[in-house]
Amino acid sequence: MRRFMGRPGAPGIAQGTVFVYDPDLPAATARQDDPRDAETELARLDAAIAMAEAEILDAREHVLEELGEDHARIFDAHRLIMKDETLVGQARQYIREGWSAETAFGGACQNIVRAFQSLNGDQPDRTGDLRDVQRRVTGHLRGGRVSGLGDLASPVIVVARELSPSDTASMPRDKVLGFITERGGETSHSVILGRSLGIPVVVGVEGLLTRVQSGDAIMLDGHTGQIVINPDAKTQAEFENLRAAYEALEAESLRFKDHPAETRDGRNIELLANIELPEEVEAVLSHGAAGVGLFRTEYLFLTRPDFPGEEDQYLAYRGILRSVAPDPVIIRTMDLGGEKVASYMEFPREDNPSLGWRGVRYALDLEEVFRTQIRAIFRASVYGELRLMVPMITRMEEIRRVKVIIEEVKGELVARGQSFRDDVPVGVMVETPSAVVIAHLLAREVDFFSIGTNDLIQYSLAVDRDNRKVQGLYDPFHPAILRQIKRTVKAAKQQGIPVGICGELPEDPLFTILLIGLGLDTISVNPFRVPEIKRLIRSITYDQAKSLVVSAWRYATGAEIRRAVGRQAARKFPEIADLLARDEEPS
Ligand code: PEP
Ligand code: MG
Repeated sequence: MRRFMGRPGAPGIAQGTVFVYDPDLPAATARQDDPRDAETELARLDAAIAMAEAEILDAREHVLEELGEDHARIFDAHRLIMKDETLVGQARQYIREGWSAETAFGGACQNIVRAFQSLNGDQPDRTGDLRDVQRRVTGHLRGGRVSGLGDLASPVIVVARELSPSDTASMPRDKVLGFITERGGETSHSVILGRSLGIPVVVGVEGLLTRVQSGDAIMLDGHTGQIVINPDAKTQAEFENLRAAYEALEAESLRFKDHPAETRDGRNIELLANIELPEEVEAVLSHGAAGVGLFRTEYLFLTRPDFPGEEDQYLAYRGILRSVAPDPVIIRTMDLGGEKVASYMEFPREDNPSLGWRGVRYALDLEEVFRTQIRAIFRASVYGELRLMVPMITRMEEIRRVKVIIEEVKGELVARGQSFRDDVPVGVMVETPSAVVIAHLLAREVDFFSIGTNDLIQYSLAVDRDNRKVQGLYDPFHPAILRQIKRTVKAAKQQGIPVGICGELPEDPLFTILLIGLGLDTISVNPFRVPEIKRLIRSITYDQAKSLVVSAWRYATGAEIRRAVGRQAARKFPEIADLLARDEEPS
């Protein structure tokens, strides 16, 4: 038995068998010592490609049944690569020169990867898909099936160096009991997705891949970050007790799910839920959220081989709006770039993707793709209470341009004779320091603000949200963060527009109390946290929360705020002592 400590990613206890997911392949460089008959090798290559293709078709069908067409399409890109004439032609050429089928195919793949990499960032990075194809074909040449995450046969706990958002999006829900990554932070998008799907996650466990192998028994606690490999009976019993304790806490919170999210002194908070995939609407409804506060539409773009068309998007948006009506749905326009890229998107490799071609910048540069999305969203608007939100605003010009495009798209819909609602509120995410500083100006242009703490913390504190090494510096209680939230709220109130928050809230309930004290109208969290946050809101008063904010302003560090204000909160709100104690810092 061995124990490891990572960082909590998504809550819950999971127990099962390890599946090591390692998409990196050894480079194929050496010529075969024992040159084989070219005809035999060509036949082996053809057979392996055919088997890999059949496997992909199988996986596609399985994913289609489980998750629908959007997810199934990811496999089409892999089939296209596998049939690519340049790739296969080159592999055949190598075989004729005396190489084995494995080395020839690997070499041809590596050449293409290297060609992408040498193009100095001007070409799309398709290396992920190529590696996947190489892995499958090589696996068949070696006589074994190499599973990707899309075609897991039995329930496992996935252990990986890192998972991309599209890896996570294509995981079959019933086959992944939990996942653990060596890299990544709590606000990495794959972790957010795991959390939304209710899958326990631990991140940042350095060196784990060298210490586990597929087939090991493993337990993980997503609340604390604890991992145990090959646990003994005593440890298993300990985890079972923990599971029971968490479930009891959850059951206590679920009792409040149908009550209003109102403080004891009558301040109503609009408590909404964040989703990434249309299927998550079910969790939104069953956990008592008052609507969707953030639909990250980019996931519609990450699980297919090409940009989704207007009709596909329209159907997805309509489905969500209809299911949630009469409650509101905030649809965020595509926030692509950074780590949210798919191979077809023609993204150059960037040295600093978070500071690069992402969010609204990318959307405005790919205006046709963006217009298609806006058209689809407005066509769906008649089916519910839509609010439209634009991510990653850093300059006034961006929102002004988006508004012009919206008006033009409405004109197109009128010309087509298609109906839409003309009263859709248009808001922006406040998630960059520049947006905070010009919030009083932005407030004149838009109908609402939603603060994105995930990025606001990253950009304000200069701490990469995906970099495990600096996760200790990623501090929501930092006085600079609290002050920026206050400033944004003030700008919104002065202009009379509502202001909410939709970044991941830390597990620490104190932060939520401070948000309420700071005057936020809307809080949007992952659906599974809605009952607990509702219980918290119903246990406090707005007046007391405001007085905690006043106290927080007396301290100069995040740690001091957490400690001193945490103590006061425990005295003021004894009803939620269990919640407050759960996140106490170890002394
Ligand atoms: C945020 O940045 O806080 C946010 C909600 O957006 P995302 O996590 O998708 O970047
Ligand atoms: Mg963001």
